[in-house]
Amino acid sequence: MDLAAYRLQAEAFTAELGEEYHAHFAGLRAEFDVEPIYARHAGLFSADTVARLREQADAASARGEDAGRRARMLLDFAVEGHLGLIATDLESELAQREAGTVLSVRDGSGAAIPFREATIVQANEPDRDRRLAIEAARLEATETQLNPLYAELLERTRATARELGWASYRALCEQLKGFDLDRLARATDAFTAATEQAYAPLVGPVVERTLDGVMLEDLQRADLPRLFRFAEADAAFDGAQLLPSFAATLDGLGIDPATQRNVHLDVASRPGKSPRAFCVAVRVPQDVRLVVPPIGGRDDFTALLHEGGHVEHYAHVDPALAFEYRHLGDNAITEAFAFLFDHLAEDPEWLRLRLGVQDADGTLAAHARATRLIYLRRYAAKLAYELDVHAVDPPDDGALRERYATLLGAAARVRWPRETYLADLDPGFYVACYLRAWALETHLRAHLRERFGAQWFAQREAGEALRALWRDGQRLSAEELLGELTGAELDFGALLADLGLAPDADPQAVR
Ligand SMILES: [Zn+2]
Repeated sequence: MDLAAYRLQAEAFTAELGEEYHAHFAGLRAEFDVEPIYARHAGLFSADTVARLREQADAASARGEDAGRRARMLLDFAVEGHLGLIATDLESELAQREAGTVLSVRDGSGAAIPFREATIVQANEPDRDRRLAIEAARLEATETQLNPLYAELLERTRATARELGWASYRALCEQLKGFDLDRLARATDAFTAATEQAYAPLVGPVVERTLDGVMLEDLQRADLPRLFRFAEADAAFDGAQLLPSFAATLDGLGIDPATQRNVHLDVASRPGKSPRAFCVAVRVPQDVRLVVPPIGGRDDFTALLHEGGHVEHYAHVDPALAFEYRHLGDNAITEAFAFLFDHLAEDPEWLRLRLGVQDADGTLAAHARATRLIYLRRYAAKLAYELDVHAVDPPDDGALRERYATLLGAAARVRWPRETYLADLDPGFYVACYLRAWALETHLRAHLRERFGAQWFAQREAGEALRALWRDGQRLSAEELLGELTGAELDFGALLADLGLAPDADPQAVR
């Protein structure tokens, strides 16, 4: 098999898909037509191609680390594409139903809310009863409209993993992505156990204040979008400061956005544009696009910084690197750089320097800490759940629903709905990327603070240190990157210390 030709075609496919994604979600084109792109490149993802790449990967691992690593990444790309290809009919039916479903909220208002906007409306809705009514309508639509399709998608994924020769989808992901999911689950379970006592004192007061008197004991999932929206912080996050503060952040790190020819920034308002900022790496590093809806509020700052972190990572990748290291590899790496940037929106030094905001009473910091803890515990529970879903011998449908609601509910201490047990699954155990990225980001941030001080984000030298890491794309895994940088092991003790829950612990020393 001609691997050089395969790489070229894979890169062309990635660019075409990126173009299509950008055009649709930037509001430049109504259609989102990925089937012709898959059809043009179907040879990349056939079962035969997967089998031949697997032979290559087995042979390459004997030829040395670099060849083995690259072959594994290509195999992962081919298998992911194969799984995408056998599900295009279900995916497009799901997208159509989601886009076409309008919720009729039974609260006497007669309001009709598009399914996809339900959580945005909940986030902006101060009236709790209305949030709950929207949730009920959303769950009913999920159950009747989407779950039958999701169930078929899951069944097909499981069956295809076995047809391709793996014991389970979990085994497939572990081998191709290099995850050790048991080890990760032990670390995240330990994190959940270690934060059990601190949860209520840390989260309860924030819930009560942010949600106008709702007590932690009464918290429901329908309240979470409103809790995360944190409307009372809007005054601190003025929309007029959104782009200038981002530009100043880049400038502080020695990056001049005006001369970044390979970054395309789109801040125009247009109908059909995604309400969330997003990044598309069409060609790394030559063509990276950042699309921003110019609105405001804390969420938009976080979203722009997060996507901006992805963009700067991709835009600084060494163009001479292999396709695999520029476009594929461990996504915990790019997510960690994105988290490093979006965490700035809760950094008191950044808030003061870039937005002129003083968090005198600690309201912003307390909210950020509570949100972080909820997210980490939610994702730890999600990992445990997804391991069950993709076990060799998974529980039956009823048991899965039960398991989902129990695990997620215990993590966030809310009555968690059963209906989203299939919608809440991410392909490729992406949950493991997020969890490892949070850990890596915490280590990275501690490292940057130690070397460059609390205002590391305003030091050109810190920017140089980051650019040195960015050049390497995603050649290394998160564990390897950290090992090379500081010699530390990627662990969750650093997150405990960062949350102030292990006051004596030195984040570098915790194992
Ligand atoms: Zn991201």
